[in-house]
Order: sequence, then C-alpha cells, then structure tokens
Amino acid sequence: MKTEAVTGEARSEADNLDCIHCGLCLAVCPTYLQLANEADSPRGRIYLMDALKEGRVEPSSGNLHKHVLLCLECRACETACPSGVRFSIMMNAARAAILERRRFSTIERAVRRFVFDRAMSSRVVLRLGFAALRIYQLCGLQRLVRGSGILKLFPATLGTMESLLPVIPNRASYSLPVRGTGNGRLSVAFFEGCIMPELFGPTHEATIRVLERNGVAICLPSRQTCCGALHIHEGEMGKALDLARRNIDAFEDDGADFIVTNAAGCGAMLKEYGQLLKDDPVYAGRASAFSHRVKDISEFLDMLEIGGEMGRLELKVTYDDPCHLLHAQGIRSAPRNLLRRIPGIEFVEMSDSDRCCGSAGIYNIMQPGLANQILAEKIANIVRTGASVVATGNPGCLLQIEAGLRARKLAIRVVHPVELLDEAYRRGSRSDASSHSSQQRRCE
Ligand code: SF4
Ligand code: SF4
Repeated sequence: MKTEAVTGEARSEADNLDCIHCGLCLAVCPTYLQLANEADSPRGRIYLMDALKEGRVEPSSGNLHKHVLLCLECRACETACPSGVRFSIMMNAARAAILERRRFSTIERAVRRFVFDRAMSSRVVLRLGFAALRIYQLCGLQRLVRGSGILKLFPATLGTMESLLPVIPNRASYSLPVRGTGNGRLSVAFFEGCIMPELFGPTHEATIRVLERNGVAICLPSRQTCCGALHIHEGEMGKALDLARRNIDAFEDDGADFIVTNAAGCGAMLKEYGQLLKDDPVYAGRASAFSHRVKDISEFLDMLEIGGEMGRLELKVTYDDPCHLLHAQGIRSAPRNLLRRIPGIEFVEMSDSDRCCGSAGIYNIMQPGLANQILAEKIANIVRTGASVVATGNPGCLLQIEAGLRARKLAIRVVHPVELLDEAYRRGSRSDASSHSSQQRRCE
C-alpha cells in the first residue's frame, strides 16, 4: 500500500507561523484575481482578522464582514504559503465572532435555525425535502417555473438555488451492516454525508460497488450525521462541534480499519475533528483517533492499489481538483492515478485545475455574482481541453460545474471519478454499461 496525502490532522499539528506578508498567496487567490483589491486577498484578510483579534476592529464592522464573507475558504492560500499559515483556522474563528454580533431579520434567523439546527442534521427532513423536489421536477412544474421567469419576482437567492438544481436521481439504495464484518481485505465504515444520499445516490452506489469489487468490507454506522462543514463556514461553530461529537460517537465502535467518504468537503472536515476538539477534555483523544482513520475514496483506492478486470471507456477525460481535496487534504495525484488506470481513457489536464469553481459550500448562493465570474473561467478551461467528461470529487463542485455547463448548453458529462471506475468495472464484467447510473447526470 502507498499513501500520498498530508491529512488535515497532520497539517494541523505542523507549525502555524505568522504571516510574513510576502504576498506569494495573492497569485492563487480567486477573489483577489477577480477584484484586484488587497482587502480581498489572503494577506489583506489576515490583516483584518488580526485587527479583529487585537480589538482594533469591531466584529460588527461592515468592512470586515464584506471582505471576510467574500472569501471562498478554498484554502489555495494555504497551499501557496511558505510560512505554514493556517488561514482556515483564522477564518473560522473570525466568522464565528462575526456571527455572534450579526443582526439577522426575524425571517433570516428562522431560516438559519431551520437549515442549520434541523434540516441538515435530520435525515427525515432532508428525505422529505428532496422527495418534494423530485415531484417538482417530475410533474413538469420546474419546466413551467423556468420558462415563465416567475422567479424574478422572488429574492435572487431563490432563483440562484433553483438554477443550481440538477436532475435529482432516485435516492441511493443499498443495504450495509451497521458494524464491520471483518471478512474483507480491509474494512471501512462509509460516511454518507447529509445531501449525498439524496442528490448523489448513484455515486454512493458506484462507490460501494468499487469497494466491494476490491474485496473491501463496508459498514454503515447508523447514528452518523452531517459532518458540520457548512455550519463552520457559516460561522456556526457550536453546532459544528456538536455534529462532530455525534459522528465520533457514531463511528467509535464500527470495527472498521478506516472511515471512507466520497465527498471532499466532508473528508476535509472529518480530518479536522482532532484539531477542532483538541481542547475538549472528553473528546480530544477520540477526535484525533477518528480523524486519523478518515480517507477520501480516491486516497483509499489509490493506497489499496486496486485491481480486477476493467472494460475500455473510450473517453477524453479532464479533472477538476476540489479545493477541499487538494488544498485541505493535500491529495492531488490519487484521483489522477485512478483515472489513468482505466483502459481507453485519454486523460487531459485542464489549466488551473487547482483553482476553485466558485461553489465553496453555499458561496454560489450567497455571492452569486462573484461565484459566476469564477465559474466562467472554470468552464472556459474545461472547454479548452476538448474533453467530453469532467471528473471531480465533491458534491458542490459537481453541482456548480454541471450548472455552468447546462447554462451554456454544453454536452459535457460531469462525474465523480469513482463513477468512471465503476463503469469500467461493469464493462469489464460485460454488464450493460449503457445503463450505468452516472449517465443520469449527463448535461443536457
Ligand atoms: S481561502 Fe481562497 S478565497 Fe479565501 S483568501 Fe485564501 S485563496 Fe483567497
Ligand atoms: S499568508 Fe503566507 S503566502 Fe500569504 S502573505 Fe502571509 S506568509 Fe505570504
């Protein structure tokens, strides 16, 4: 077995030196590249966050809000920084401080409480919500709404959310034991995520098939919940830590060697539980043990050196690095290695594959203008490769890129790398690849 990544946990234990103001991070910061404003660069934001910490600026300052909230939290600045500055730790603390003082309207407060306290941590609420969206699409109402332009009468956020909605596939259907059986080559506990089973059921099914094909025993701890990544990005630190503790409890007795996720954003968050709970007298050690077991699916499969017969996929494929896989988890070569293993695939790199697509959690909903500018560059880079398929390993990136291609009527498929592996395995075993589930998310 081999390993590539420097995990978030390992990185968090590295020296966290002060910013030396060298400016090397400016050239990789998507917001600075778009706005050419020092306050929208990592260095400018660090200056503002230091001022907040030292009491030179109030948490209620409009200037602070503007520049801190325009950050994508893509963490490209961390990869570029020669001084080991852990930008995300500062940013999470700054957002939590801002949230404490921020004044929300009654409606905004109610929506936030519903989304962050109820919906995202309740499978029942999410299942009902996505069932309603499936009906909205199947009964033709979505076509009517999009065609009528009626959404222009509502707050812009609603229109942005609607435009991002992909064709929602059937909910994932798989049955796994809640505890490891120990009868595989290795055993993993699968982290499902909150929206993944609803929006990316076929990706989960493909992940499970590929793991099983490689002799890995899989279990699904039943009490797991949302990872808390969106909460922390939105300044909801207390709620994020609650969710972290619930997941640590849920996976503690799973009997598995590793915890595997196919969502880069979730993986980055899970790997940082150790850092986030390092001062918790009850959870510190358990959180660290949990984080050390977490692997992204590409990292795990590459480490395993997968085998078995694969059929040919005659496809030209490019790859987009999810920020939370590359910059937060340090994983670059694993997904590329996996794609290159598939017979028939012509792999082509895109320019700036390591630059954010503008998704960034719910950034594309909260800051649609800048998110669309950033997305436009990503789409142009994809098109320039001439690829017919773009692979990326994070739900937000899958949705964002797919929405960008759909808006431009470009017939380029967007898939998770594991779906291509699954497709090749299925073709290798002479099953009918044309019915493969990943094709349900073909761009129209
Ligand atoms: S996290 Fe991304 S957007 Fe934010 S300052 Fe760093 S590079 Fe810029
Ligand atoms: S964050 Fe790092 S790269 Fe950016 S200015 Fe500071 S020391 Fe330089």
